[in-house]
Amino acid sequence: MAKKTVEMEIEEVRTEISDTKTLKLKWPEGYEVDFKTGQFITVSWPDTPKYRRAYSLSSCALDRDFFEITVKRDGQMGTRIVDWAKAGDRLVVIEPVGKFLPVLEPDAHLLCIAGGSGVTPFRGFVREATRRGLKTRITILYSVRTTQDIIFETEFKALEKENPNFHFHVTCTRLTDSDPWTGRRGRIDSEWVQSMIEDREKTVFYACGPNDLVLRTEELVLKDLGIPENRIKTEKWG
Ligand SMILES: Cc1cc2nc3c(=O)[nH]c(=O)nc-3n(C[C@H](O)[C@H](O)[C@H](O)COP(=O)(O)OP(=O)(O)OC[C@H]3O[C@@H](n4cnc5c(N)ncnc54)[C@H](O)[C@@H]3O)c2cc1C
Repeated sequence: MAKKTVEMEIEEVRTEISDTKTLKLKWPEGYEVDFKTGQFITVSWPDTPKYRRAYSLSSCALDRDFFEITVKRDGQMGTRIVDWAKAGDRLVVIEPVGKFLPVLEPDAHLLCIAGGSGVTPFRGFVREATRRGLKTRITILYSVRTTQDIIFETEFKALEKENPNFHFHVTCTRLTDSDPWTGRRGRIDSEWVQSMIEDREKTVFYACGPNDLVLRTEELVLKDLGIPENRIKTEKWG
């Protein structure tokens, strides 16, 4: 069945970091949709209806009346959105689809591995688990170049305080030696991931973002850690 396509007004544009913004898209009057946290919408501008791109929802399925997407300035669509989108503009939206869904079971541990803007759907995961007061453990391992590139830092830290089952860890890959950052440095490696696993049987791995990060993570999880394929879910952005 064809997916519903509707025009939505951009209600708010929020700058997250210098090259990344969150758009709040207001559902039109009477719009109802059945969707799940972790899915993505497809958007186009009304003047170029054939140029469509997918964006993961950074909001969650408990959020009604609006979608949020968080976009990095990259390529044609990413640049147009970050540099030009403003409140009051309209985007054409194809309703959410996708299978990158959080397993929000009480004894599951979701180990979410993200690089750069690939962290966007994980905000939805944590938001839903926290609002519902779930026991599901969620750990985000987030690789960024520098401390200026951490998307949702304040929000994830606040969610960590609110939700004892959520943990947010950052590693920076391109800091100078003189940078005062006292946290972890270097790429996400198998030792670091391994140190987060308590019970292998209950851990579900997630990786999202540009292809190279996702492929590296798949190799790390499947080959280095010997986790079976059905325990890793990936979302490749191209
Ligand atoms: C399921 C899914 C979910 C996604 N979720 C998000 C999300 O939450 N946030 C997000 O920011 N993105 C997300 N993306 C990516 C998004 O759909 C776009 O691909 C992205 O915004 C880039 O826009 P574009 O495709 O128009 O870029 P294009 O113009 O097609 O460019 C694609 C890539 O090629 C590079 N490129 C383009 N032209 C040149 C050139 N001349 N020389 C060298 N390099 C070039 C660009 O830098 C870019 O990396 C998602 C993708 C998928 C498939």
